[in-house]
Amino acid sequence: MIPRLSPDIPLAGLGQALHPSPPDAVDRFEAAFAEVAGTRHAIAFPYGRTALICLLQAMGLKDRQIICPSYTCVVVPHAIEYSGNESVFVDVSEDSFLMDMDLAEQAVNERTKALIATSLFGEPVDLDRLARFEERFPAVAIIQDCAHSFFCSDKGKPVHKHGVAAIYGLNFSKILTSVFGGMVTTDDDDLAEAIRTSRARTVSAAGLKKEISRRLYYVAALCALNPVMFGLTWRLSRLGVLDRFIRYFDEFKIDMPADYLTEMAPFEAMIGIGQLKRYQDIVSHRRMIAGRYHHALSGAKHLTLPPNPEGATFSHYVVRTDDAARYLALAEDAGIELGELIDYFVPDLPAYKDHLSFGAGIGRRYVGRVVNLPVHRGVDVGVANRVATIMQQ
Ligand SMILES: *Cc1c(COP(=O)(O)O)cnc(C)c1O
Repeated sequence: MIPRLSPDIPLAGLGQALHPSPPDAVDRFEAAFAEVAGTRHAIAFPYGRTALICLLQAMGLKDRQIICPSYTCVVVPHAIEYSGNESVFVDVSEDSFLMDMDLAEQAVNERTKALIATSLFGEPVDLDRLARFEERFPAVAIIQDCAHSFFCSDKGKPVHKHGVAAIYGLNFSKILTSVFGGMVTTDDDDLAEAIRTSRARTVSAAGLKKEISRRLYYVAALCALNPVMFGLTWRLSRLGVLDRFIRYFDEFKIDMPADYLTEMAPFEAMIGIGQLKRYQDIVSHRRMIAGRYHHALSGAKHLTLPPNPEGATFSHYVVRTDDAARYLALAEDAGIELGELIDYFVPDLPAYKDHLSFGAGIGRRYVGRVVNLPVHRGVDVGVANRVATIMQQ
């Protein structure tokens, strides 16, 4: 069975788990990441959410309002809350997965100090629109959330270079992975120094226990996601046996993983370095498969396709349909897992009920009506054609 997501690491990559890591692995990963990103600085963290917490601290923000999308990964507002600030939610614009910037302008007041611009699913945010927002509100810093998009571009301009800094998530489900892990990039030397200071104060060194447990996780997860094994993985996950490993949030709680303040393990950095070398290949493949879906499904009246702009990097190719459950079941019968990555509207989660939220709830209508079509390395043209045939029914 083909999983809906999988890192771009062949099974032969399992051998990596036996290689010793050099002690300066994390520094090397940062240098390699900055080089591929084309930024002056890249600073590594155990998770993307920890990166955001330390970034907000480094910016000196406390008791401020931070605007973030209503339709995004819930770990983003969690990080805002953990940094001692308040998340304010802004809905998506009509027929889009991206934040409505007109609404964002209505959400600004004198307490608003930052806006998280998220290129969700790898679709670049509109940088011209963002620049207009900044002209009107120079006191609101732009932070790019590039966890789904990495180095995507809008009309030729790299999104992650626009604004004060960009954050990235590097877990096994992202475009690039370092097993777990997160990163911040910035071109601002003073901010970079403040982020490093904040990290030194907040995050403690990874010990041998973390190094070993990350290696074990890597081996287990690579095996579990291998198409030969995945049928079993999938059945176990249906039974709830794997919940401890795959459930990443509790809708009633604003919380963090136990090790969110323990530095990235050197082993994770080594995996990340290997991934960076293949960045262009990884993204080309995703674009090629997304392009296939786009071509094959254009004209399907029962589906709403995502845009396919030139600079998109496609963490997922996500279509909208009223019949999501039927497609998931059809694909399952054909041995392919489809998914619904974001199956909640953050302001509706009990933990965020009392937070400010702008918009009529367009993103709420997406819940239960989106289907992620897989675009990872395990999906070749043949599989993509099978998926497209299923989605045409
Ligand atoms: C994955 C993700 C992050 C970072 O997640 P971590 O699990 O903390 O590394 C941030 N934003 C979005 C939109 C994400 O999907």
